[in-house]
Amino acid sequence: MDKHARVVVIGGGIVGVSTLYHLVKKGWSDVVLVERKELTSGSTWHAAGLLPLFNMSYSVGQIHKYSVALYKALQEETGQDVGLRQVGNIRLATNSDRLDEYRQYASVARTIGVRVEFLTPEQVLEIWPLAVKDGLVGAIRHPDDGYIQPADLTQALAKGARAGGGRIYRQTTVLGIDQMRNDEWCVRTDKGDITCEHVVAATGSFARRTGAMIGIDVPVVPVEHQFIVTEPHPEIVSRHEQDLPEMGVLRESDDSWYMREERGGLLLGPYEAGAPACYVDGPTQDSEYELFPEDIDRLMPHIESAIRRVPIFGEAGVKEVYNGAIAYTPDGSPIVGPAWGKRNFWLNEGHSFGITAAGGAGWQLAEWIVEGEPTIDMLGVDPRRFGDYASKAYLQKKNEEAYANVFVIHYPDEERPAARPLRTAPCYDRMQKLGAVFGQKFGWERPNWFAPEGVPQEDHWSFRRSKWFEHVGNECRHVAEHAGLLDMTAFAKARVSGPGAEAFLDRLVANRLPRKVGRISLCHALAPRGGVHSEFTILREAPDSFYLVSAGAFQRLDHDWIFRQLPRDGSVQFENLTSALGVLVVAGPRSRDLLARVCSASLASENFPWLTAQDSTVGLAPARLLRVNFVGELGWEIHHGIEYQNHIFDALMEAGADLELRPFGIRAMDSMRVEKSYRLVGTEMSIEYAALESGLDRFVHPGKGDFVGRDGLLAWQKRGFANRFVTLEVQVTTDADPLGNNPLYLDGALVGRSTSGNYGFRLEKSLALGMVRPDLAEPGVHLEIEVLGERFPATVLQESPYDPQNLKLKG
Ligand SMILES: Cc1cc2nc3c(=O)[nH]c(=O)nc-3n(C[C@H](O)[C@H](O)[C@H](O)COP(=O)(O)OP(=O)(O)OC[C@H]3O[C@@H](n4cnc5c(N)ncnc54)[C@H](O)[C@@H]3O)c2cc1C
Repeated sequence: MDKHARVVVIGGGIVGVSTLYHLVKKGWSDVVLVERKELTSGSTWHAAGLLPLFNMSYSVGQIHKYSVALYKALQEETGQDVGLRQVGNIRLATNSDRLDEYRQYASVARTIGVRVEFLTPEQVLEIWPLAVKDGLVGAIRHPDDGYIQPADLTQALAKGARAGGGRIYRQTTVLGIDQMRNDEWCVRTDKGDITCEHVVAATGSFARRTGAMIGIDVPVVPVEHQFIVTEPHPEIVSRHEQDLPEMGVLRESDDSWYMREERGGLLLGPYEAGAPACYVDGPTQDSEYELFPEDIDRLMPHIESAIRRVPIFGEAGVKEVYNGAIAYTPDGSPIVGPAWGKRNFWLNEGHSFGITAAGGAGWQLAEWIVEGEPTIDMLGVDPRRFGDYASKAYLQKKNEEAYANVFVIHYPDEERPAARPLRTAPCYDRMQKLGAVFGQKFGWERPNWFAPEGVPQEDHWSFRRSKWFEHVGNECRHVAEHAGLLDMTAFAKARVSGPGAEAFLDRLVANRLPRKVGRISLCHALAPRGGVHSEFTILREAPDSFYLVSAGAFQRLDHDWIFRQLPRDGSVQFENLTSALGVLVVAGPRSRDLLARVCSASLASENFPWLTAQDSTVGLAPARLLRVNFVGELGWEIHHGIEYQNHIFDALMEAGADLELRPFGIRAMDSMRVEKSYRLVGTEMSIEYAALESGLDRFVHPGKGDFVGRDGLLAWQKRGFANRFVTLEVQVTTDADPLGNNPLYLDGALVGRSTSGNYGFRLEKSLALGMVRPDLAEPGVHLEIEVLGERFPATVLQESPYDPQNLKLKG
């Protein structure tokens, strides 16, 4: 066996083999895969082989699209039959919300170039004559969707990888993994050690065990999944004899199951409530081609539903039931990318649709390893989107929920209840008493909106303006006219200090660092090619110490990015302060009067200008005030030791009673940030758009000296930009606003996509942020935008349409 390789991939399921294949295709032939038993002997062999293109996520949608195209070409490349059957896939709808979901999905599909068509119930029957149309209101169909033979596909990828020099060692178990002084890894197997530059873990149900070998808690716990295969049925056999086309895959979304033909019979796969987490501590050492005992009782409601929709299903005898482990993460998407806090260790784990995702995930991971970054924005699958809060106990609850929710309607404002509340700011109970309806981000509970007296304190989700719309509107107007209080404790906070801190941060970000102590700058850390990786608000708190604030959801991602660039000579120290500090935001024209009553600092603009910070007290508590906010009003963020939060909260509420201080939530904040054209990482800013395409000209200074991403950005600029950031007013909408991922058209041609949208209550306009062809980015240009299947006129506005001069912020 090899003693050294450039990359060792652990795991010979579809995902590991695809990663090996793509590394070879990128020109790295010195790559090795080790598998403890036989290829596909984990989850891969028993998969139903479906390749659903449907996915609400922009990242995962692109990954799936690539996979299907690859699998189609693979047979020709390798000569290995992969059993690909592009028979199409119909997803049924029995209610109008489901149709809205399909309409929103169709927008995502159009922006990434996936073919999808809408069907009437009658058209469904033309394709699936053995179904009945009771209760149907419509359906969508993916003509390019279908299924494949997972084991044959794995063998084809293995053949392709071997042809390019990749080596595969079966019956070889990884027992330990150590990082050596020179940063290389030593992968210890029962057949000897292999040293290598990079390790990829693609170990399916063993993911947590593999993670433990390097001291990380991989957020994967599998869940049991079953499917039933029937004996042949005469009607299907007769269709075959008549050479009629295969009916394709049928998905009853509202009853949570899929069905397709299988050898003259039918295959039914339900996603049932109550499916238990499994292999919580990993499979046994002997586990191979392992299945669990069937549990038909759990499937009964779905079997009954399947019989109602396809009556012949009830007439065919059950031939086999498969009950196997399917890897899950709390949000149901895989984890593909770097292991946090480790150099050159990569995860391709947590795949619940691994047959579908393997091609794209292997492709993007190989790009990342070889080129230093992927080409698709991978935030939706990045391993660092979860944090320490994702303990084993949390994962069991959350992953069972994710499994049971595969087919639920994925509302844009959906908040799932399992494993909550978990991380709560001290003011949680106070906010709850004031009517807060909470959402969850990175484990934190955050008020999304506040139910006024008499309104039930419960959420209501929709693709259209929901029941909370009116109340959020009132919150926005209240902030604009009086004063509002927002809990932003979930922010990621950190300190970077030491003699090398300034030089280090200067190289990390594209903006100039604040020169004077007490000054604040908005700074972007670019990815190597010049897109945006992270956004930090940076305060210089001392000559050699900086305080960094970034989005709560990206705490692990942002802090890991810093870790990767940190010099190793001890000249720079990094401290994560997220859980130690709370943040309360006071915003609105009366916020100065309010703070003046409780705070020791002088708040007049000449003493406390915009983009500066001061240490002060609020009530009796020490606190730091930053004159910034995300809603475009006069306001301050109050950063404080977490133990002082309730004291500060009470001091503010008491002092603010006659100033009409009221709490507001994240949904109001988002509406107001769209009115200010403030970009977010993951939507308006990403590695797929150059920082200058995102309109960050004011914050990016290629002339300041070298920084990460500078050369990449300049090279991109030379090649020419394909996009430009815009803010759009959407006209004549009545009950729905853009949600992001809406296609933008000019004379019927696709010219861009919206990245976010919202109703702007202060402007009384429906708004979208987005990316369009640069020549169309001028204010006044008229385009069209698709919102839930309808096209509306959309006009490019001047940036920051609410208070474009920032007079309120600076006042
Ligand atoms: C009943 C069922 C039906 C499914 N149907 C579909 C479907 O229709 N479409 C779809 O897309 N997905 C489907 N899936 C999911 C799919 O099976 C998985 O997502 C996919 O197989 C995951 O592949 P993998 O390579 O990540 O994991 P695995 O196939 O489990 O491979 C991991 C490999 O790593 C090896 N390994 C682990 N630890 C070590 C070690 N220390 N040393 C060496 N080797 C190690 C294991 O032996 C194993 O072979 C289904 C799953 C189930 C249970």
